[in-house]
Amino acid sequence: MSTLRLRSLTMQYSPKDKALSNVSLDIQAGEVVGLIGPSGAGKSTLIRCVNRLTEPTSGEVLFKGQDLTKLGSRELRQSRRKIAMIFQEYALIERLTVMENVLSGRLGYVPFWRSFLRKYQGNDIQSAYALLDRVGLMEHADKRADALSGGQRQRVGIARALAQQPELLLIDEPTAALDPRTARQVMRLISDICNEHQLPAIINIHDVNLAKQFVDRIIGLKAGEVVFDGKPEELGNDA
Ligand code: ADP
Ligand code: ADP
Repeated sequence: MSTLRLRSLTMQYSPKDKALSNVSLDIQAGEVVGLIGPSGAGKSTLIRCVNRLTEPTSGEVLFKGQDLTKLGSRELRQSRRKIAMIFQEYALIERLTVMENVLSGRLGYVPFWRSFLRKYQGNDIQSAYALLDRVGLMEHADKRADALSGGQRQRVGIARALAQQPELLLIDEPTAALDPRTARQVMRLISDICNEHQLPAIINIHDVNLAKQFVDRIIGLKAGEVVFDGKPEELGNDA
């Protein structure tokens, strides 16, 4: 079953340039999709339209059969809880601990104060520890987020996204700020976790070689249009 269907998705920021032009795609349950293409191709816009951080000009975004472009703010908030984001610059709350950052995924918004997290205890803490264990950060649970390396910070970002118990992951350039070895480790972790949970993901990734190693399917965008859609091995070496 398709988790996500885009139908004729079009985004026009200004009259003369289309950032996305009639993009139609189906993302199946459990599919890890790498979105590649030159700068300005529309990759970020596509990801942002999926959870309506950007309002598309026209077209449909069907998530589990529901058109997100038609939802009111309350229903949209509910749907967004099922769609987790992982960011290039991690977007962690620096002054909170690793554990508190992971718990904030359950909250669904950025907590201003620690006290927002007090309602979490018992099972929530247990599952947050389990997630930290899965991403290899158990010993760092009580450190402040800003005490960690880039790779560790991205692992916190992954654990926080999973704490939301998402049904779809949207991942924007997860490795752009990382060295090549750490980037591979982070991509391997994301792809392993998605496979374990049959969790579909769309990963905006500029590094084609990295995409080819770790995704199930590659979608190439150019000037707002889909110019490639296939398995990594079908993509030529000159891409
Ligand atoms: P990519 O992520 O592939 O680099 P983007 O989605 O960021 O591409 O951009 C696609 C096109 O839309 C580019 O021409 C870019 O300049 C334009 N664009 C992106 N965001 C905005 C915006 N907020 N306002 C106007 N134009 C934008
Ligand atoms: P609801 O549960 O009605 O969907 P929210 O989960 O968005 O509402 O918010 C729950 C409570 O947290 C509200 O009292 C709201 O004012 C507060 N809140 C929402 N966003 C933030 C934020 N970013 N920082 C601190 N408090 C927030």
